[in-house]
Amino acid sequence: MRAVVFERFGEPAEVREVADPAPPEHGVVVRVEATGLCRSDWHAWQGHDPDVTLPHVPGHELAGVVAAVGDRVERWRPGDRVTVPFVCACGTCPSCAAGDQQVCERQTQPGFTHWGSFAEYVALEHADVNLVAVPDELSYGTAASLGCRFATAFRAVVTQGRVAAGEWVAVHGCGGVGLSAVMIAAASGARVVAVDVSPRALELARTFGAAECVDASRVPDTAAAVRDLTGGGAQLSLDALGSPVTCAASVNGLRRRGRHVQVGLLPSETGTTPVPMARAIALELELLGSHGMAAHAYPPMLELVRTGVLRPDLLVTSTIGLDAVPAALEAMGTAPGAGVTVIEPWG
Ligand SMILES: [Zn+2]
Ligand SMILES: [Zn+2]
Repeated sequence: MRAVVFERFGEPAEVREVADPAPPEHGVVVRVEATGLCRSDWHAWQGHDPDVTLPHVPGHELAGVVAAVGDRVERWRPGDRVTVPFVCACGTCPSCAAGDQQVCERQTQPGFTHWGSFAEYVALEHADVNLVAVPDELSYGTAASLGCRFATAFRAVVTQGRVAAGEWVAVHGCGGVGLSAVMIAAASGARVVAVDVSPRALELARTFGAAECVDASRVPDTAAAVRDLTGGGAQLSLDALGSPVTCAASVNGLRRRGRHVQVGLLPSETGTTPVPMARAIALELELLGSHGMAAHAYPPMLELVRTGVLRPDLLVTSTIGLDAVPAALEAMGTAPGAGVTVIEPWG
């Protein structure tokens, strides 16, 4: 099959022929119809993820058709339309037994712990635990965007963040996950303040329901701006980018008893991130993490997508083929861009 491969961290990736994957005993091989390009792929390529070994094929936000199944798979057949959370759970550890597959103790992640979906085929572990059926109404491109950024935003806003109608929600960083969060919070009846350095990202945020926007390239203290716009601070705030600056701004923009949800990854090479804990104590803030979403939690989200309440399809701003991926990966380092790029390996 054709795949995007890199031999060394940070050096140009290339598209070439590699061996087709075989399905693991509990797993499947999926023919990749669409796969999203995400900043986590850039981190993997840069060597920021300790799970990645070389040579490597990135890609973790995918949708496609089951091509082959392992001997011990019960629920899936070749031809099924599927997607998968980026955290693939083992199904048997204590966290999985408690229903918390998103923090599985023996998780695998395509594109990180093994070869991913920037390829014509990808192998996935523990299919009965992790695969999600994609309704016929949903395109593969839309389904691919659910696995990482949209599902992550959904869990962060709805489950971890416990959003309520009428609340102020601040979203710091309006890339794929941030724009998803804006859309989900607005659809939940919240009033959203979007914060980003890019006017284009803020324009999209407004399209997806943000009531207020803060241009962080012009406003030095974004937390103060959020407190002003919301009459004292947001009830819920997300760092959807993942940086010491946006993390602190998110916490500092909360009102009393507010909830901060850390969604953007804070890679270890930047060191431990300082968090304004004095404010957390004085205002009794809640500081929460959010890490993907388990496959069994997808149905309510899929129903909102199927009925058009949530429109992840609108987040897809460009579609490219495998050959364009090495350059697109490189561009992510300097210009992350707004919206979601979908790769069609067979396109
Ligand atoms: Zn991702
Ligand atoms: Zn597990």
